[in-house]
Amino acid sequence: MNNESEICFAAEPTLGKLAKWLRILGFDTSYEPGFSTKKTMDSGRKNRILLTRTERVRDGKLPQEFIFITPNIPFEQLREVIDTLGIIYTDTRPFSRCIRCNTRIQPVDKESVRGNVPDFIWQTRDIFQICGRCRRIYWPGSHTERSHDIIMRLFDRYDNR
Ligand SMILES: [Zn+2]
Repeated sequence: MNNESEICFAAEPTLGKLAKWLRILGFDTSYEPGFSTKKTMDSGRKNRILLTRTERVRDGKLPQEFIFITPNIPFEQLREVIDTLGIIYTDTRPFSRCIRCNTRIQPVDKESVRGNVPDFIWQTRDIFQICGRCRRIYWPGSHTERSHDIIMRLFDRYDNR
């Protein structure tokens, strides 16, 4: 895969969990739960790969690149995207993006987040990051411990192939 070009996605409203996972992996993924398929397609015109479960999109002639998502289970959906595009672990930047609003998160001074994170967390962590858009604060482990395991499971499969 070409590491120079960044892969961007536009996910349909039915693919919220998949969108969240792609953001966890660091991919720029637009996702608006209120958008129609048509509107999601329009939002995808700026070089985003449309992720769709709509059969008429699959069967129609689309000017933009798309992946028709077959599985129902989010983990399998993620695997389908990774497999289709040949994405490997080094193409990802896990935990670099806000899972709520898709913005890249930035390092933030520990002192400045005091009172905005649980006291226990503030006392036990030294590294914090913040989303410049929605102000959500992240720290190592805040994306949930399970995420890391799932990412490893996702890519082990490809490493061993
Ligand atoms: Zn955010």
